[in-house]
Amino acid sequence: MHAAPIQRLVSELSKLPGIGNRTAQRLAFFILRSSPEDAAALAEAIREVKERIGLCEVCFNLAEGPRCRICEDGRRDPTVICVVEEPSDVIPIERTHEYRGRYHVLGGALSPIDGIDPEDLRIAELYARLASTESPVREVVLATNPTTTGEATALHVAAGLRERSPELVVTRLASGLPVGSDLEYADEVTLGRAFSGRRAV
Ligand SMILES: [Zn+2]
Repeated sequence: MHAAPIQRLVSELSKLPGIGNRTAQRLAFFILRSSPEDAAALAEAIREVKERIGLCEVCFNLAEGPRCRICEDGRRDPTVICVVEEPSDVIPIERTHEYRGRYHVLGGALSPIDGIDPEDLRIAELYARLASTESPVREVVLATNPTTTGEATALHVAAGLRERSPELVVTRLASGLPVGSDLEYADEVTLGRAFSGRRAV
């Protein structure tokens, strides 16, 4: 049995995704062995990210300040919006360099089994964004994950968009992405191809 502070660190680390109890113990002992400066830098980085990083008021991507870098960037095409599940999905899409529009982060995917309904996602905020005449949107790309919940979310949002703005082009990433896996793990070439080959739904 470990001393209480070690046990506490192990139990906090084991809450991280993909970190089981054994790995949490290994990380805890690594932190114990590291210099006080390194350990303090880790603690400070965690504290700072929670204090300084919030969600963009427009697209709900991660932002330092009220708006994210993409919404702040005047060169990004405001007439195309790519809808993703999580802020972590923006990064692989950006890496493909295929996309120059804006984003909208839903904050998850529909999953009635887990109690995640349309009201729990930022779907209403997407519709509100499209309704604001500030910058007319001509295309919405549904880039939710190629999983059951991601597909259900894309279908739901596509239907909602068709109902509200029939003239809007709604597209979905081309197939070829590994089914059942997250966008995050798709390689750049495959994701880039899926992007350029997107089709109307
Ligand atoms: Zn933004």
